[in-house]
Amino acid sequence: MKILVINAGSSSLKYQLIDMETEEVLAKGLCERIGIDGHLKHSPLVGGKPVFNEDLPMPTHSEAIAAVIEKLTSPEYGVVSSMSEIDAVGHRVVHGGEKFASSVRIDDSVMAALEECIPFAPLHNPANITGINACKAVMGDVPMVAVFDTAFHQTMPGKAYMYAVPYEYYQNDGIRRYGFHGTSHRYVSARCAELMGKPIEDLKIITCHMGNGSSIAAIDHGKCVDTSMGFTPLVGLPMGTRCGDLDAGVIQFLMNKYGYSIDEMLNILNKKSGVLGISGVSSDFRDLDAAADAGNERARLALDMFEYWVAKVAGSYVAAMNGVDAIVFTAGVGENSKGTRAGIAKYFGYLGVEIDEAANSKRGEDVMISTPDSKVKVFVIPTNEELVIARDTRDIVG
Ligand code: ADP
Repeated sequence: MKILVINAGSSSLKYQLIDMETEEVLAKGLCERIGIDGHLKHSPLVGGKPVFNEDLPMPTHSEAIAAVIEKLTSPEYGVVSSMSEIDAVGHRVVHGGEKFASSVRIDDSVMAALEECIPFAPLHNPANITGINACKAVMGDVPMVAVFDTAFHQTMPGKAYMYAVPYEYYQNDGIRRYGFHGTSHRYVSARCAELMGKPIEDLKIITCHMGNGSSIAAIDHGKCVDTSMGFTPLVGLPMGTRCGDLDAGVIQFLMNKYGYSIDEMLNILNKKSGVLGISGVSSDFRDLDAAADAGNERARLALDMFEYWVAKVAGSYVAAMNGVDAIVFTAGVGENSKGTRAGIAKYFGYLGVEIDEAANSKRGEDVMISTPDSKVKVFVIPTNEELVIARDTRDIVG
């Protein structure tokens, strides 16, 4: 069975074609500037075919999908001989609200429910829906599955997901913590249990997804019981450009003082804050590491704040779960920045965590970076959201 995994953004579309017999990625790629002009980078990973990396007109997502299918099946760049070899499509969908606690086969009622979730993710869900419709237009009746960023967090109890605002905002408007990156937290927690050789039902795990956007999840006996992102991905940790937790009074103060509209204010909090805002250098942790090494104090402060917040939120999850067996780092920063990992782990002395420097220097593989006698185990596990989407699609389509 071969499954096409699609992650559609407003002007971009990432894809992977995965052979589910071996879970090997046959090809992957990225369409960019959809609706503007259009560019496709298509990388076949089997058969020794060349990479295609050129501008192509893409007025809508339909042309983008058509170009992807054309390349996947072409004699020169292809990895399958025809579209009929693609058995199913798995779509990443950002927000499933309270309707979807797991992945689901897409039909008309699911499409209607996705539309209903648009107010919760006004930028992301419309793009995901456009991607699904474009696939339907080009691929016809091929079965399709939606896999939600929010679904894994639906097991949180009310005490974790409720905000202390008048209850009717939850009842009438769905105002609550939803959480994001669920597919990643699910993958790395399951992989962590595998690496520990124990059923996930016997473990308390804290997963730290640290990329451009960052979130932490508390996973108690296989179920998410808390996570740091909320109604939107803006809160929790300070991130690349997002502010993380912030007193709402600051918003009122700045809007009054500088006459910002709410859109201008949120743009500052989403795009100009986080480690970029603090350092004034960059949102990229590689640049921050270099600047801090060169003596830039604000870059050092930004890194210190990030590490402190990860440790502080993770510590609150140790309290929430009354203990922890393993802590996992994943995503761009978690997988690559040994300095950030070491900086965070310094706060975990009270857990009996000790980091093995040689293991912490490895890259690109699943690795336990705590010493063998460390009481709480610490792992680096490269995330693989596409594989989770493909597996769910296979399981649902059969
Ligand atoms: P996204 O949230 O966009 O999916 P990623 O998980 O790919 O992000 O993470 C991207 C971030 O990873 C970059 O902004 C950068 O800060 C960080 N990163 C990537 N490589 C390294 C590295 N070698 N050292 C430190 N940080 C890195």
